[in-house]
Amino acid sequence: MAVPAAQKRVAELREKIEKANYEYYILDQPKLADEAYDALLRELQQLEEAHPELVTPESPTQRVGVAPSTRFAPVEHGSPMLSLSNAFDEAELRAFDQRVRKLLDREAVGYVCELKIDGLAINLTYEDGRFVQGATRGDGFVGEDVTSNLKTIRSIPLTLREPIPGRLDIRGEVYLPTASFEGTNRERVDRGEPAFANPRNAAAGAVRQLDPKATAKRNLAMWSYSAAGLKVASQHELLERLKALGLRVNPHWRRTATLDDVIAFVNEWREKRHSLDYGTDGVVVKVDAVADQERLGFVARNPRWATAFKFPAEQATTTVEDILIYVGRIGTLTPVAALAPVLVGGTTVRRATLHNFDEIRRLDVRKGDRVVIQRAGDVIPEVVRVDADARKKGNEYPEFVMPERCPVCDGLVIHPEGEVAYYCGNPACPAKTGQRVGHFVSRGGMDIEGVGWALVTQLQEKGLISDPADLFFLTKEQLIELDRFAEKSATNIYERIQAAKDRPLARILLALGIRHVGETTADDLARWLATRLPNNADLGAVFEMLRNASVEELQSIEGVGAVVAESIQEYFARPEERPFLDKLVRAGIRPRMPAPRAVTGGPFAGKTIVFTGNLERRSRDEAEALVRSMGGKATGSVSAKTDLVVAGPGAGSKLDKAKSLGVKVVDEEGFERMLR
Ligand code: NAD
Repeated sequence: MAVPAAQKRVAELREKIEKANYEYYILDQPKLADEAYDALLRELQQLEEAHPELVTPESPTQRVGVAPSTRFAPVEHGSPMLSLSNAFDEAELRAFDQRVRKLLDREAVGYVCELKIDGLAINLTYEDGRFVQGATRGDGFVGEDVTSNLKTIRSIPLTLREPIPGRLDIRGEVYLPTASFEGTNRERVDRGEPAFANPRNAAAGAVRQLDPKATAKRNLAMWSYSAAGLKVASQHELLERLKALGLRVNPHWRRTATLDDVIAFVNEWREKRHSLDYGTDGVVVKVDAVADQERLGFVARNPRWATAFKFPAEQATTTVEDILIYVGRIGTLTPVAALAPVLVGGTTVRRATLHNFDEIRRLDVRKGDRVVIQRAGDVIPEVVRVDADARKKGNEYPEFVMPERCPVCDGLVIHPEGEVAYYCGNPACPAKTGQRVGHFVSRGGMDIEGVGWALVTQLQEKGLISDPADLFFLTKEQLIELDRFAEKSATNIYERIQAAKDRPLARILLALGIRHVGETTADDLARWLATRLPNNADLGAVFEMLRNASVEELQSIEGVGAVVAESIQEYFARPEERPFLDKLVRAGIRPRMPAPRAVTGGPFAGKTIVFTGNLERRSRDEAEALVRSMGGKATGSVSAKTDLVVAGPGAGSKLDKAKSLGVKVVDEEGFERMLR
């Protein structure tokens, strides 16, 4: 490729990869299949090899992950946490082995093969044998401090079985067992949130919760596989030593003397891995002797002494028995292929998503077709292609057409200009309302136990609810009249609904069902609102603030990108949402504001501040909330304990008192400067 063309393609690839990195590592919601991502990265690597002048230190080929999010305190790693080179087939494994032998100038090299755990790389720091800090990998140099969350994981010992003096860094993979992963995804789908694409993103989501209690609920576990600060001569000795120290080491590792043994290990685990109760996406092959590892060293972001063999996505062929349409919470019509049951990667698959109408067109898939399906990222089944030859042998079925009427309510289907998705246009579609109520009462939302499908359907049929807010206006008498309800059960449900009027703000925001607003974004939004609203603000004030927030302002919130910001703004601007939101306010829901995060630095941490006189730039409430969010206390009267008085025009006795006590005084401009 000529240089200008290569340059253009390199820029394109970097942009795509960086976007994918952000979605994968920060949002824990990849939009690309791993195979597609790996292909992009490979193409970039090959172009950079052909045109070394185009390599820059910022290129994704030279870096690990992405810069950590600022939701957590940064942690600088004692030694960098790197990635691994990949091998996708036997030939690439042999090429790795040849390189190693050539560089070591030796014929025989011993390896250790380990399972590549589909989890999240974590560093645990121990001081004199006690667990003091845990961090994510981040960009390899700086990670996120997730100590409190990791402390909830039982397989992470708080003290080692031997008090190794000084600092010891243990590395390993935190993962979600398959059963918990599937459970988490079921709950998410029930709430109308997108399922996690693979166990790794789910584990990352669970580890990166702001509330350790949320992490504790997820049943995470850890396997350790490396350490900095332990004197050992080989990887196999290291694994044995880690185990002796009380760390959990995956038992399925093997020392191998030749590359043929490595390949045998890989082939053995291709199938056997499905019998494990956690996800593995490959085999990591490591040169055993530490002296050899040191000689081989590193290149860019990978050690030269190890590589990751990736298992290919598992595929199978089956027949499309029907194309069904699901109606989601916001009315999206999702086509799904109903399949003749087929075994893929150890699981029987009966459904595969067809994503949207464009995808059906691209695949040209029809009822009756033979199709190849795969479990992408090893989990969610999707249709890869149609067996066109089989079609010729007599597929009588016509091309799929999107229905003009909603399959649930017969409402008109709409297809907004420029959008891929089709929607049911009926705001009162029972499928939408039902899904919305389900999402609203779910555990991560308003958490109202007992409001299941059967009850919601009855309430809908009786015309008692048209949106989730109506739940709060149900009377005990109305509930008693429903089928299978008696005095006691009606009272129970009634009381549970009433109790839900007291909920943390983040959960209320999640329960609204705003597109793209999942648990983490709801948390971030709530914390942002708490810095701008008084502690006892009602829901009306919350909605008003969100209604008035510009896309730019919303985007300034950590973790909120352009798409999310636009979706929030669009939601609060929607006229048909207004009656629902107003009803929630009328129901008297009291949002619990999140506590400000413990802040140790900054101009206001630990300080007591008094505002007096008029402020022009922001309201007194807002200024006080800002101080609180930065770890300070805002009080109403000046005393010897006051650290700072912010005095605007019209300040009187409080200013005088501050002066007489020698308390520092600034004007509004001074305060704004301190904020900056
Ligand atoms: P990697 O997953 O290919 O390999 C390195 C990681 O393997 C280590 O950091 C460690 O966490 C893990 N690991 C598991 N078991 C191990 C063991 N026994 N010993 C050593 N390490 C072990 O590389 P990566 O840099 O973590 O991630 C890149 C991969 O992530 C890509 O290949 C791609 O599949 C995926 N990705 C996908 C997208 C997307 O949009 N789909 C975006 C970014 C990354």
